[in-house]
Amino acid sequence: MKKTAIVCGAGGFIGGHLVNRLQAEGYWVRGVDLKENEFGNDKADDFVIGDLRDPRVCESLFDRKINEVYQLAADMGGAGYIFTGEHDAVVMHNSALCNLNMLEASRINGVDKIFYSSSACMYPEYNQLDPDNPKCSEDSAYPAAPDSEYGWEKLFSERLYLSYMRNYGMEVRVARFHNIFGPQGTWDGGREKAPAALCRKIAMAEDSGEIEIWGDGLQTRSFLYIDECLEGVRRLMQSDWPGPVNIGSEEMVSINGFVDMIAKVAGKTIHKKHIEGPTGVRGRNSDNALIHEKLGWKPTQPLEVGIKQTYDWIAEQIRIRESVEA
Ligand code: NAD
Repeated sequence: MKKTAIVCGAGGFIGGHLVNRLQAEGYWVRGVDLKENEFGNDKADDFVIGDLRDPRVCESLFDRKINEVYQLAADMGGAGYIFTGEHDAVVMHNSALCNLNMLEASRINGVDKIFYSSSACMYPEYNQLDPDNPKCSEDSAYPAAPDSEYGWEKLFSERLYLSYMRNYGMEVRVARFHNIFGPQGTWDGGREKAPAALCRKIAMAEDSGEIEIWGDGLQTRSFLYIDECLEGVRRLMQSDWPGPVNIGSEEMVSINGFVDMIAKVAGKTIHKKHIEGPTGVRGRNSDNALIHEKLGWKPTQPLEVGIKQTYDWIAEQIRIRESVEA
């Protein structure tokens, strides 16, 4: 018999890719989201349009034995959505309800294993003030001091899943994603994250043109390509270890350096105009010591390889949009 899985957030970027990965591995997959996948990027056997803030919707997903649940649904966006403060209440309310309801429905219906996608945003700001020396090892989470309410909700929900594991014996797996990027993700409209936003700006700029960058560009980050992320997720699910664990890359770049990398991929000379904008912590990098020790995993390809695939896809989206508008 085929293994069965529910992917919550299948209309989104990582969820859509995860549906396809599970399908390719032979699973029967049910996707669920508020919306269909914007880029048609899911091959779910069954796709439910539903709101996970409603416990009845969560309950209705279990009309058969479900082996695995992947809870990726969240009220989510890049710095322009998460760090302005304007969406704090809805982000916390919406994402917490999705987690509370889905976890409880999974418990009642005897799911074998449940995966929760936390975020590096739950790490304390005080360890991420120096762009050259951020600390994001799993054991550095406390005393807690995330720099956003999005991060606080992630921390709350991690604890929620782990308490279900302790009190109800549920098989829980928790990963902290660090800036996942790739094709078929949001690239425009206000919720896009830095890699997609910078690819879009550079694709739309003339050669020798200028793009706007939020902050001084000296802030550092690492970025992980979607396929690598899914490999980490699947290994975690197949292991007997709950985490929480970082799933990210240790190839840290400054935002200025990242812009130069994308410009090189695009074959353009790009000038940077630094403007005021939400930037998040000064420095962040994944620490992969624990995942390497426990799961023998680390990313396999350099950042530039994934950037080339992402840039080409976004440039193509822009061409399609322009041809429709023309
Ligand atoms: P995304 O925004 O593309 O996908 C999230 C999906 O959840 C969306 O399609 C959205 O419609 C859906 N959703 C929101 N509220 C819902 C509700 N009430 N009912 C049903 N569906 C709902 O985001 P993503 O980048 O694919 O991220 C997936 C998960 O990974 C999220 O939990 C996010 O917080 C986490 N994460 C992502 C990153 C990253 O770099 N992309 C980093 C850290 C953590």
